[in-house]
Amino acid sequence: MAVCLVCGKFEDKGLQEAMSGGWVFIRCPECQRGTPFDIISMYLVKATPEKYFEGFCSKHWFKDSGVCGYCKMKRRETVGDIVP
Ligand SMILES: [Zn+2]
Ligand SMILES: [Zn+2]
Repeated sequence: MAVCLVCGKFEDKGLQEAMSGGWVFIRCPECQRGTPFDIISMYLVKATPEKYFEGFCSKHWFKDSGVCGYCKMKRRETVGDIVP
């Protein structure tokens, strides 16, 4: 089961299936949310199907800025504060 840390959306998929569907399992460098991939890949080896994989759905990981949806929102807010 893949669970998005940003929107709470979940998909009843295996890890590999979820990743091929655009999910990202990584630790966000800004807010430290998420699970480092080396830990996630240990789940893969054990192949525990009932496990929850906390990550980011395809809408909430931004490859261009390298941050998750939370940080993206935060950045947008910060920019909004500067503008009078
Ligand atoms: Zn999401
Ligand atoms: Zn983040």
